[in-house]
Amino acid sequence: MQGPDGVKGRVVVNEKTPTNIETPIHTESNVSTASSKSEISNIAFSNTDAVGEIMNFLASDELQGRDSGSPGIEKAAVFIEKVFIENDIRPYFTSYRDTLSNFEKPAYNIIGVLEGTDAQLKNEFIVIGAHYDHIGTKSPINGDTIANGANDNAAGTTTVLELARYFGNAKTNKRSLVFALFSAEEKGLLGSKHLAKKLKEQKFELYTMLNFEMVGVPLVGKDYLVYASGYERSNMADVCNGFAGEKLVGFLPTAKEFNLFARSDNFPFHNEFAVPSQTFSTFDFTNFDHYHKVGDEASLMDFGHMATLVNKFIPVIEGIANASQKEIKYN
Ligand SMILES: [Zn+2]
Repeated sequence: MQGPDGVKGRVVVNEKTPTNIETPIHTESNVSTASSKSEISNIAFSNTDAVGEIMNFLASDELQGRDSGSPGIEKAAVFIEKVFIENDIRPYFTSYRDTLSNFEKPAYNIIGVLEGTDAQLKNEFIVIGAHYDHIGTKSPINGDTIANGANDNAAGTTTVLELARYFGNAKTNKRSLVFALFSAEEKGLLGSKHLAKKLKEQKFELYTMLNFEMVGVPLVGKDYLVYASGYERSNMADVCNGFAGEKLVGFLPTAKEFNLFARSDNFPFHNEFAVPSQTFSTFDFTNFDHYHKVGDEASLMDFGHMATLVNKFIPVIEGIANASQKEIKYN
């Protein structure tokens, strides 16, 4: 998540074109087993092991806090590309890499697509996104300088990658799904601003944008699993809850008070396309003390909670992707 005072990036056009990635390979999806901090319910596709494997890499010290343009975030980019390749998610552009035009260092969104199965509906797109960058290193606290960004936002990245793993193998989506991992969110939503503008110019037919941000630690004392930013702006939560068969998405007053709707990567899509573009999160400023600090570590994340969230969003996204009409609308 972006701080309340977003850093502005300088506008530099970057002409560098990264190398393409070759033929995708099918892999068998993992079968669920365990649970740890949270019980895993619902259809058990994701599990603590699958989530933990991704989280423990993305939030490792080796990646040095995934600052945009750094060698550390490059390792995350390569990892994301590998997950896409293994699960039959194709590059949306000529490669998975979408080079930011609004940041001074080479920085890349990683963008994959899974074409829909319906001849007509496949022309409509759902963007499922999360930022994979974080803030890098900070002045030491107890000798630790690396802001690992486990909750912010290795957690959202892991959610998107697990959803990509599910849909890439199941192929149960009539509409097309774009899996978008953004860079330079922490510099002022730069990756999502760049991509939303570019897609708009290319006449991309966006139905809705579902963004995942800081979902590594559960909410406490709520009768819903996640909140949606911009809850009151659309029927997004109602539609999601209908497909979930339970109250999965709720309203968090703090999210409205702090205008979280404008503080993550959903916002540029809202601005460019004026279609429902909202962020799902389980961070409420009281359930996690390490926001933008060196203590935001994978060991503090609840992998069971994260796997549950993935599993509960699978039928929701299937429902949204397969409905004959666009049901989600701004009020
Ligand atoms: Zn952040």
